[in-house]
Amino acid sequence: MSKFLNILLCKCPKCGKSDMFKFSSFNIFNFISMYPECSNCKVNFEPEPGFYLGAMYISYLVNSFIFLFTALMLTFYFEMSLAFTLCAMGLTAVLVLPYTLRLSRTIWLFIN
Ligand SMILES: [Zn+2]
Repeated sequence: MSKFLNILLCKCPKCGKSDMFKFSSFNIFNFISMYPECSNCKVNFEPEPGFYLGAMYISYLVNSFIFLFTALMLTFYFEMSLAFTLCAMGLTAVLVLPYTLRLSRTIWLFIN
């Protein structure tokens, strides 16, 4: 499996066989719960306390891209009003939050 697909599926950065997160993105109360290590190759998913603070930068980039894409599509392609576009951007941010948080943690672990 390619590294890009492993990132999108939130798999282990070393072996790509086990999941990093215990529950699905749709489990709204536990979507961020992670395993402490890989069940296959024993890679530590939490190398040090506060390790995932840097994932905020990745999350900022991912959310900015989603905001920009949503705003451009609604404004120029669908020609919606500014109020509708802003509401849709807020709703989009809330709906994709669980996945973008997991994705940003996964990317941060892959690049470190
Ligand atoms: Zn592994």
